[in-house]
Amino acid sequence: MLNRNSYLDIRSNYSLEKSNTFGLDVTSESFYIVKSLNDLRNVLSENKTRKITVLGGGSNIIFTKFLDGLCLKIDLKGIDIIEEHKNNVIINVMAGENWHDFVKWTVNNGFGGIENLSLIPGLVGAAPIQNIGAYGVELKDVFISCKTINIKDQTEKEFDEKNCLFGYRTSRFKNIDKNIYIITSIKIRLTKEKHKYNISYGSIKEEIGNREINLKSISKAVIKIRKSKLPDTNLLGNCGSFFKNPVIHESKYFELKKKFPSISAFKVEKNQYKVSAAWLIEFLKYKGKSIGNVGVYKNQALVLINLGGATGKEVLSLANKITYEVYSTFKINLQPEVEIL
Ligand SMILES: Cc1cc2nc3c(=O)[nH]c(=O)nc-3n(C[C@H](O)[C@H](O)[C@H](O)COP(=O)(O)OP(=O)(O)OC[C@H]3O[C@@H](n4cnc5c(N)ncnc54)[C@H](O)[C@@H]3O)c2cc1C
Repeated sequence: MLNRNSYLDIRSNYSLEKSNTFGLDVTSESFYIVKSLNDLRNVLSENKTRKITVLGGGSNIIFTKFLDGLCLKIDLKGIDIIEEHKNNVIINVMAGENWHDFVKWTVNNGFGGIENLSLIPGLVGAAPIQNIGAYGVELKDVFISCKTINIKDQTEKEFDEKNCLFGYRTSRFKNIDKNIYIITSIKIRLTKEKHKYNISYGSIKEEIGNREINLKSISKAVIKIRKSKLPDTNLLGNCGSFFKNPVIHESKYFELKKKFPSISAFKVEKNQYKVSAAWLIEFLKYKGKSIGNVGVYKNQALVLINLGGATGKEVLSLANKITYEVYSTFKINLQPEVEIL
């Protein structure tokens, strides 16, 4: 429905069911699709007093209740090569581009650096929020900067890689500056030749087998592996990994190792071990289990799934149950990777 007080096409009481990959049927008080930077500036300045929620592809969000205020779906488009050098290119991508389509574009153009990040759902603008990563590569490895607009005063600011404070599935935008900025575009550097292939993670090497190692074969292998492990969001609502892999001190790890010899973990930094959250959940026999309309995926214990008609509250209740039991058994605090609203 058109908001009569504005020339902007703001819809009221809009169902977000098709706007989040978990398929949660939650209503947004107001919903607006942002198609240009001017649109974005206007809608923000006309709605200064309202609560703003930014939405990309909805693949990392769990809606647990009616979303009050204004939900802005980012649909800014454009991919530009802004500098071309002998060995690399600098590319500017607008926040509303689909991440995987962009990866395909880079691979088809022979630009290397994000082929391991093939098939991650969502939009480009959300990629810096949690510094998306997979198969040994993170966004930060190719990232130069991102442009943002401040939600409150519409000032524009560019953050370079260092200033984004990237970490494992995190950045300043998920922490100190949560809900302050809208990312409108990102700038990344990719290789044109002398690509640094990263095939040591997962089973990429085995999947490629005797074929030539190049951008296309790596991307293809990653897509195949991901399809075999993760549920297709079009068939089974989910948000990918629900929890982060907890990082613990080595003394705690050695203690756990004595008690649970098969615990899965690897050293990440001096004195720090990253524990497989999937292993912890599987150990507690949650893999394949369901409560009401929400379940733990049978092939990957880190993924919670919508068995049909699930509500955000049901998701939260299963997530809380798992978190509680993990803590009771291992004294480890699981943190959600997804944004819970
Ligand atoms: C099957 C599956 C597999 C996945 N695999 C991976 C994986 O391998 N690695 C990985 O890192 N993630 C993975 N994810 C999680 C998810 O795809 C990423 O986090 C992705 O970047 C989210 O993008 P989105 O556009 O859907 O963001 P949304 O879910 O729409 O939003 C996520 C958060 O970012 C904020 N946000 C979105 N866009 C903007 C913007 N332009 N400016 C400011 N804030 C914004 C939102 O407010 C919200 O807080 C997976 C998800 C699924 C469903």
